[in-house]
Amino acid sequence: MSLLKKFKRSFSKKVTQKNWPGLIEAYREWLPVSDKTPVISLQEGSTPLIPIKSISKRINKKVEVYVKYDGLNPTGSFKDRGMTMAMSKAKEKGCEAVICASTGNTSAAAAAYASRGGMKSFVLIPDGYVAHGKLAQALVYGAEVLSIKGNFDKALEIVQEISNKYPITLVNSTNPYRLHGQKTAAFEIIDFLGEAPDWLCIPMGNAGNISAYWMGFKEYFEANQSKILPRMMGFQASGSAPLILNKRIENPNTIATAIRIGNPVNKEKAIKAKNESNGSFMDVSDEEIIEAYKILGKEEGIFCEPASAASVAGLLKRKDEVPENSKIVCVLTGNGLKDPDCALKNNDAIFHNQLEPEVSNIVKAMNL
Ligand SMILES: *Cc1c(COP(=O)(O)O)cnc(C)c1O
Repeated sequence: MSLLKKFKRSFSKKVTQKNWPGLIEAYREWLPVSDKTPVISLQEGSTPLIPIKSISKRINKKVEVYVKYDGLNPTGSFKDRGMTMAMSKAKEKGCEAVICASTGNTSAAAAAYASRGGMKSFVLIPDGYVAHGKLAQALVYGAEVLSIKGNFDKALEIVQEISNKYPITLVNSTNPYRLHGQKTAAFEIIDFLGEAPDWLCIPMGNAGNISAYWMGFKEYFEANQSKILPRMMGFQASGSAPLILNKRIENPNTIATAIRIGNPVNKEKAIKAKNESNGSFMDVSDEEIIEAYKILGKEEGIFCEPASAASVAGLLKRKDEVPENSKIVCVLTGNGLKDPDCALKNNDAIFHNQLEPEVSNIVKAMNL
């Protein structure tokens, strides 16, 4: 029995949000932690798996489509799952400072968890390409922000060199503890559905998350917690698709800034996940991403960031290949509030601006 099930049972029928102890405590036996590990947590994890009828309907083969809404983690992205582990292990080692390169969400999570654990954080970001919500978070959570005239890939090279030369722990997804934390999302999906899905659709940037999910699905499978393994279906934005084009992209470009990465560090692991799972990679255009982003918002009340919508856009693009009666999970990696500029520019809403504040005038505008 999984620890989560034991945990739920021990609280009998009264599992409430308040009972959730964070993913390290919930999945302790599956994680490389010991009694000596100081757990740095913001009670991340236990995010909802929500059925999405508007997407199921568009596929129309009696499929059940769910989204794993990881934008509901404490700092608004799945990066919290990795960061609770990376920071707890860094603290255990006696580390006083951490560093990362980031397209935004890693820096927000690193800053929050470092502060919570009493450590200093340095974050390198590509100037002008970090969504405003994420930058605001890094600043408020107390990181020291270093914005460079270069892209994410360059930033990552720099932080790798710095962490090799100075006593500062690197918390990008090259840090193995990150992936252990992130694999718990696969556990949660199986604990909830009672089985692994047939397909897992997921956006890929540095390709750590797809590798982490695959590790989680395999571990649960090997421990008889599920009878099947999903096909890992990874998606990249067309302007930033090194894993589809099979070459480094020097100047990646996409509206989905979280996955604007031209040289993914977890490339080998991701390709292994694809091959072992009989999965497949494909790219989706920015237009397809925005289409999915809008459907989720206006038909389901779910606001995710554009990078996250790539998973749903990808599923829609591949809908002819979806097997009948299958279960599919799309990972929504980050919260839509992270990128308000994208939202304001990409919606179909009616927005009457600067109205005179009189009832007669308002009802006229409302066309009543
Ligand atoms: C980091 C991130 C990704 C990409 O995850 P990788 O592990 O780098 O592939 C996708 N979406 C969002 C919102 C992210 O923050």
